[in-house]
Amino acid sequence: MAKSSRKKNTRNANRSLSTRSVHAGEPRRKYADSLTTPIIQTSTFTFRDSQHIEDYTKKGKEHFEYGRYGNPTAKIAEKRLADLEGAEDCVVFTSGMSAITTTILTLVQSGDHIVITDDSYKKTLEFCRSYLKQFGVECTIVPFGDYEGLERAIKKNTRFIFSESPTNPYLNIFDLVKIKKIAKRHNVLTLIDSTFATPLNQRPIEFGMDLVLQSCTKYLSGHNDILAGAVLGRTELVDRIRNLHKSMGGLIDPHCCYLLLRGLKTFPLRVQRQNETALQVAEYLESHPRVRRVYYPFLKSHPHYEVAKEQMNGGGGVVTFEIKGNLNSAKRFLDVLKLCYIGPSLGGVETLITHPALVSYYDYTRKDRYKLGITDTLFRLAVGIEDIEDIIADLEQGLGS
Ligand SMILES: *Cc1c(COP(=O)(O)O)cnc(C)c1O
Repeated sequence: MAKSSRKKNTRNANRSLSTRSVHAGEPRRKYADSLTTPIIQTSTFTFRDSQHIEDYTKKGKEHFEYGRYGNPTAKIAEKRLADLEGAEDCVVFTSGMSAITTTILTLVQSGDHIVITDDSYKKTLEFCRSYLKQFGVECTIVPFGDYEGLERAIKKNTRFIFSESPTNPYLNIFDLVKIKKIAKRHNVLTLIDSTFATPLNQRPIEFGMDLVLQSCTKYLSGHNDILAGAVLGRTELVDRIRNLHKSMGGLIDPHCCYLLLRGLKTFPLRVQRQNETALQVAEYLESHPRVRRVYYPFLKSHPHYEVAKEQMNGGGGVVTFEIKGNLNSAKRFLDVLKLCYIGPSLGGVETLITHPALVSYYDYTRKDRYKLGITDTLFRLAVGIEDIEDIIADLEQGLGS
């Protein structure tokens, strides 16, 4: 394991992230002495007697009562995620977006204002820009990297700054030290979507971020087979979010939590491998005559290389690049790939490639797309855990087409 993964944590400080990924959050003795976490497939939980009821209602002893208020398998996933992120508490959700929207709705009320960076996940931006308006919440979108502009955007009624790091598709890195200073000066909360980093590569809580958002659909579950999300932070904040989640009602089911727990056991192994593969692929692409430009935070050519090296333990599994030529050259490249699947998402075991111009931005005019930097020949590669030689061989034959 990388030395960085042994960084001191709030709990189990003597055990490394790899060990905690396998064991954290679950009791050593489980139902029927099973080794793996049982899937508690029930919608309701029973009381043994009236004393048990009163212990729960009056003394606050742990009990689940009803499926929408929580589930033991989900609880274990929450404890494990909190342990890995170094956070006090965690709530898991049916998806990353469910975690993001429920968190935001918990923190704002009519008349409030929020600040978000323009490079955030498309659906997060859409929610803040369009839906929050319906509730009388104003949103200022500031250009990513403009820290002065961000500070100027803060008003008396600003509740929080929301950002993401690294971002999609250019893997911009948000300076967590700078943002913490600004937030402190103005007494606003800091929310960071750390999905592209995972707790192996980035430790936002240690940088003083108040809440961390994760789409566990990506690296944390890691097998492209479930959707899940999480919010992590101080108990006082997370409890409020959990409470709203119980009313919103979109609770994650126990089987999905089991798959998340299973994925988590190997997440440091997988992400370590993806860090190594992606860096090598980025270097390979950068030296290829048919490639115009490569974006990877751990390449010296990346505009945020210094900050990335400072605040991250690895560059992650996503490499963005632009090939030479036109839209037809891009289509030809895609059409001959044999190992990489064409598809959205990232962080799973299978290598995936997307062409933002043809997929996420298909309904934009070419001019509008180019304004956002989404050119005709831009690709986002999300490496899996296949052998590096095989991934490069596939790209090589694609680039030769
Ligand atoms: C995928 C993703 C989300 C949304 O997560 P879902 O699990 O798909 O709802 C949010 N933020 C980032 C950075 C993502 O990559």
